[in-house]
Amino acid sequence: MSTATVVGSGPNGLAAALTLARAGITVTVLEAADQIGGGTRSSEALLPGLLHDHCSAIHPMAVGSPLLADLGIQWRWPELDCVHPLDDGTAGVLHRSVEDTAAGLGIDGSRWRTLFSGPAADFDALSQDIMGPLLRMPRHPLALARFGAPTVLPATALARVFRSEAAKALFGGVAAHAFRPLHLPMTSAIGLGILTAGHRHGWAVAAGGSGAIATAMAAELTRLGGSIETGVRVSAANQLPPSEITMFDLAPEAVAQILGDRLPRRVSRAYRNFRRGPGAFKVDFAVQGGVPWRNPDAHRAGTVHLGGSFEEVVSTERAIHAGRLPDRPFVLVGQQYLADPQRSVGDVHPVWSYAHVPNGYTGNATEAIIAQIERFAPGFRDRILDHTTRSTVAMADYNANYAGGDIMTGAKDIRQLTFGPRITLSPYSTGLPGHYICSAATPPGPGAHGMCGYHAARSALTKLTHHQEVSR
Ligand SMILES: Cc1cc2nc3c(=O)[nH]c(=O)nc-3n(C[C@H](O)[C@H](O)[C@H](O)COP(=O)(O)OP(=O)(O)OC[C@H]3O[C@@H](n4cnc5c(N)ncnc54)[C@H](O)[C@@H]3O)c2cc1C
Repeated sequence: MSTATVVGSGPNGLAAALTLARAGITVTVLEAADQIGGGTRSSEALLPGLLHDHCSAIHPMAVGSPLLADLGIQWRWPELDCVHPLDDGTAGVLHRSVEDTAAGLGIDGSRWRTLFSGPAADFDALSQDIMGPLLRMPRHPLALARFGAPTVLPATALARVFRSEAAKALFGGVAAHAFRPLHLPMTSAIGLGILTAGHRHGWAVAAGGSGAIATAMAAELTRLGGSIETGVRVSAANQLPPSEITMFDLAPEAVAQILGDRLPRRVSRAYRNFRRGPGAFKVDFAVQGGVPWRNPDAHRAGTVHLGGSFEEVVSTERAIHAGRLPDRPFVLVGQQYLADPQRSVGDVHPVWSYAHVPNGYTGNATEAIIAQIERFAPGFRDRILDHTTRSTVAMADYNANYAGGDIMTGAKDIRQLTFGPRITLSPYSTGLPGHYICSAATPPGPGAHGMCGYHAARSALTKLTHHQEVSR
């Protein structure tokens, strides 16, 4: 029987392991941390019973994934997907339904409908093309063309189709998930992907915390005979057991370091020159009575984007990219407990937040995050019972894939978003036979959907079968 070693148990490592195990391969996963899951871990960090997601929280890309279906993950949806409040008390409101979102956007309703109703209806077919390597023959060329045309635009250009500040800011806040200066080409792509997936499947949270995603994948892997060893940090090739397939759920720099001069020189150079994006500074709060939002819809939203007007979001993203923390950074707030009330303890609620900061930012952004929440929820500060922070440095200690706090595992510029860590039509191949990279540095990129792992494993299985046929 063939064997495989997977280094790293993030959602992509586990997805790769599961895909290989389902094909009858004996899989061992080696994980540096004491707990599996990478970016999908949750714990009671502040008070007994109060459950916080350490990283990923909201899952529009994962909830409809065929890879994660039938694993027993229970998805829960908030009443509203996302709210982007403005200083005058109004807000851009994202509903799961395109129609309801359009109805709330007034003058821009028909434009929102034009942009999203077709792609959202096509999303399940479309995801076969966009949730994998981008450079291959599309299965649904017409749907892809309709979705893909606006994705090449800078977010600042696409935002011009809207006339109201609410619609512009709502779109801009989601586009900012790309961690890119929004005037650059293709900065609409990630936002359009998240919005389209959300309009099809909703911005769901996993019941019991995002850790439930990893637990479910690990349980299925174990049932199929796979094993997971935690507390094993792989730093050199001689630590790897002999296997037909070795899969790295790691950042490219780490793969270059582990495989050293066994890698082809051009691949090693590309991996070592991998470009990093800005960082995230995370704060989790225990909040008595929840956040006292001024905007009523924000009380019902799983996600609240705090960046003010579209122009302000453009300016903050430009600043962090240039290495400066603005006074009022872009802050994302997660209220997962609204969809999954078991995470709260009585009237004390876990509130998840992070700010976009420069890569490697060494300061403390906690006060800037609290002030940004206060701006849209006066009185928030008085409701905080406790909080815990994770700086960019702590983020990288927590998970080496997030160097400098770069939670996207690499800058999502045009080249890295399209190709992954090097220019090739085989983004998962390291160039060393039998060795693959499957982390969020590869297509289709970040998120707890596991599709990088799935496609890397499929590509490894195709090569293995071919190799076995040739040597027969
Ligand atoms: C604060 C934050 C918020 C986020 N919010 C969301 C969200 O709401 N929705 C969403 O979909 N995504 C979100 N993400 C992104 C998402 O978590 C990641 O894109 C996803 O986890 C990437 O999965 P991965 O398997 O590629 O790698 P990771 O999840 O990063 O896992 C890599 C694993 O490899 C292990 N490892 C690293 N080096 C070694 C080594 N040398 N030896 C052995 N093991 C090693 C790490 O410990 C880790 O377990 C967020 C991330 C963060 C940090």
